[in-house]
Amino acid sequence: MNKYDYIILGGGIAGSLLAWQLHLRKKSFLLIDNEDPHASSRVAGGMINPITGKRLVLTWMAEKLYDFNHRFYPRLEKSLGVPFYRELPLRRVFKNAAQANDWLVRCRQADYRPFILNDGDETSLFGIKTPFGYGTVLGAAVDTVPLLNALHAVLGNSYRKTNITYDEIKPAKEHIRIGELACQKLIFCEGWKATANPWFSYLPFNPCKGDVLKIRAEISQHTGIAAGVFLLPFGDHFRCGSTYIWDELDCTATEQGLRTMTRQLENILSVPHALLEHKAAVRPTVKDRRPFLGRHPREKRFYIFNGLGTKGLSLAPWFSRHMADYLLGHGGLMPEVDIKRFPLPSI
Ligand SMILES: Cc1cc2nc3c(=O)[nH]c(=O)nc-3n(C[C@H](O)[C@H](O)[C@H](O)COP(=O)(O)OP(=O)(O)OC[C@H]3O[C@@H](n4cnc5c(N)ncnc54)[C@H](O)[C@@H]3O)c2cc1C
Repeated sequence: MNKYDYIILGGGIAGSLLAWQLHLRKKSFLLIDNEDPHASSRVAGGMINPITGKRLVLTWMAEKLYDFNHRFYPRLEKSLGVPFYRELPLRRVFKNAAQANDWLVRCRQADYRPFILNDGDETSLFGIKTPFGYGTVLGAAVDTVPLLNALHAVLGNSYRKTNITYDEIKPAKEHIRIGELACQKLIFCEGWKATANPWFSYLPFNPCKGDVLKIRAEISQHTGIAAGVFLLPFGDHFRCGSTYIWDELDCTATEQGLRTMTRQLENILSVPHALLEHKAAVRPTVKDRRPFLGRHPREKRFYIFNGLGTKGLSLAPWFSRHMADYLLGHGGLMPEVDIKRFPLPSI
């Protein structure tokens, strides 16, 4: 039997960065993933954007996360020897005059200023319709597939590609058994698939499907565009996302999804585009929009790190470290993310 202190089930951005934290701390662990190409982390657009929404609001923990990610991703790139991270000005295209006005207000607010770039480049954006103008946010783009593949490769024997069914998991007295594997602590990181997890499905998941396109268009490769849909440059193409669909939880790229994305793209592009690829996946979104971290209230050796929602790439680095500290007994969890906020329903 192969014994570990920790087994992490699910190698998307959550499970993989948690595994990285345990690897850095030289712990005994195994990361398991079935490498589903439709996993949220493998389909994600890859945008990190600290100012979002119609009202141009600063995202939760923006300052802390921005500083952390700014250091974390370049260091990880160096350790893995693969490029996947790019800091990028994001041109936030305003929908109407009221939004342009909101932006002027934001530019004067001290907490927003670190995320706003006044590069003096207020000229029109070639190929993008900007009838009400735009502002520039300091953002970033993460190419998740090379990140995950390189990280899994560096983990060597601490990573295994396989699928686990929940009935294989047997919490025995000495250890938790999963077939010929055994561990002391099991951390579930299965993304939206955790809605079928017999121990954690009581948590208020609210999964949301989305479409992402890969396109080619003659627009600048030096900036990203956030205009309802986003466009992020990756070498010779752009990634464009996304739709938000709550009543169709599968990873099928549909005609309807493509039509919606195309319509939105045509609303912002004044140049033609060529479609290269269309994918869809389901985000592990949750009702109160805060991640799920913590320990099962009854099955004390079972843990969860999930619920990264629409912002996994901003949240995963900091919260994987937070989760690792908690697992190793180096501190408690932030109450906002601790699953203790949801009582286990009585049977
Ligand atoms: C269309 C779309 C666009 C997005 N765009 C962005 C964006 O621009 N920026 C951003 O920050 N976030 C974005 N997101 C959200 C982001 O993708 C998620 O927050 C994040 O990837 C969630 O990561 P995760 O590891 O929790 O889940 P997942 O990525 O779902 O990872 C879970 C992994 O566990 C595996 N797994 C599950 N069950 C088992 C099992 N039984 N056995 C073995 N393996 C198993 C799955 O196959 C998967 O590999 C987007 C999501 C979608 C769908």
